[in-house]
Amino acid sequence: MYIRKKDKKLFEDIDSNICLPHNWNKFISQIKENHNLIIKKIKLKSSYLYYCTNCHIQFEDIKKKINEKCECPNCKKSFLIKSNRLSKYVFEDNLGLLDKYKDYYILRHFELKSYYDGTMITTDVCEYGRQIFDDNFYQIHEIINSHICNYIGGVSVIHDGYVLDKNWKYFSSYYKSLGNCLIYYPYNIKQLFKYTRWQYSQLWTLAKKEQYFDIAYLLKNYCESIELLIKLKLYKLALCPKTFNRQGSFQDRFGIDKKFLSYMQNHNLDIDELEVLRYSKTKDIRLIRYFSKFDLNRIKKYDINLRNLKKLTNISYQNYNEYIDYLKMSKTLGYNMKDKKIIYPKDVIKEHDKVLKIYEMNKDKSINDAIKRKYKKLCKNTYQTKKYIIFPAKDINSMIDESKQQNNCVKTYCEDYANDICDIYFMRLNSNKNKSLVTIEVRDNKVVQQRTKNNQDTTKEQKLLLKKWENKILKVR
Ligand SMILES: [Zn+2]
Repeated sequence: MYIRKKDKKLFEDIDSNICLPHNWNKFISQIKENHNLIIKKIKLKSSYLYYCTNCHIQFEDIKKKINEKCECPNCKKSFLIKSNRLSKYVFEDNLGLLDKYKDYYILRHFELKSYYDGTMITTDVCEYGRQIFDDNFYQIHEIINSHICNYIGGVSVIHDGYVLDKNWKYFSSYYKSLGNCLIYYPYNIKQLFKYTRWQYSQLWTLAKKEQYFDIAYLLKNYCESIELLIKLKLYKLALCPKTFNRQGSFQDRFGIDKKFLSYMQNHNLDIDELEVLRYSKTKDIRLIRYFSKFDLNRIKKYDINLRNLKKLTNISYQNYNEYIDYLKMSKTLGYNMKDKKIIYPKDVIKEHDKVLKIYEMNKDKSINDAIKRKYKKLCKNTYQTKKYIIFPAKDINSMIDESKQQNNCVKTYCEDYANDICDIYFMRLNSNKNKSLVTIEVRDNKVVQQRTKNNQDTTKEQKLLLKKWENKILKVR
């Protein structure tokens, strides 16, 4: 791909004017330390033997499950437990290093990759892309080098020894980007933002406390709440600063009493967890985390206690929609929505299905009642000649019967008929009033459909009669 000369020059200038900061290797080692495992080796008499790939010591411990976390008694770090039959495991982290050249900000993207081969862990770090921003943090270029391998559905980074390829190419397009949720190198950020509008932002603290967030988003959409939230040690909330960019008291800003602040700090609550805390006002972190994925707005009007909901029902993210439907139907059916047995069903799906059946039956009943009322109203339009009679459908059963006899779909009109969207009439022979002949749909006092058996058209005689009926009876009313 052709690279504009002006851009090529810029990419080269950046390369010759930036370098890795002196704490870079320390930063890499910190991240790399998480790329370790506890290997479950053999069963001893009453315990198991484990091996820590971080500090290379063996230790005895009780039986623990594979894929659970375990703390090494020597280095005090927690890692995943894996079987000693495991022959391959890969860790990947994406790191971001901010830098500045003239009026440009540069975000350098690195991948840190560690391989476990059944005996030891080796790690490699590789720079594969860069974003170049203007001084308002709007992106100007997104560039990659040959370490990026493009394939349908994504990109991957090829590690082939660390020799930086400086042959930069354009990358960004409508449907793909490098993405900038990264672990940021925190130690140069304060210096970088000196004398800028971000000089009090505290983003360097956030970069130490939080991994994987979008720093470019925060810089581009900078607001004063970022500094405040980070200073309050509400790091996860600082990732959604716009929501909290309000004036007023703590209550006004966070929608909750200030006495909850230390709890919010201790658990570094995110925005979804705060929502549950606001709703439940209970300091139960397991409960809060459990319900943080749920849209609690949907149960607000039912006065549900989350602790009871969790304890008395089998509520889960998978059956939450059914639970909402269940509450809605129960309310429509006039159930007592203060009754614990009603609002906390032991088995959500089972009760949902039960109530749905009752609901459907009652729905038919209310439709039938409405049709009966309509019949009474429309009876005045009944029309009789020597040969024919036209009269309104009198209930659901008569419509089902008409459907069956005529082989048409008039029964599906029940709801529309009941809700005054259309009127349904039958034309029959005086000599045989129980046998279907013509099904008639009327809208706004006009015949819009007239069908005989199997949706065939009416005879000339029937048509003339319907026209007469429409003009003489329907239109004059
Ligand atoms: Zn260890």
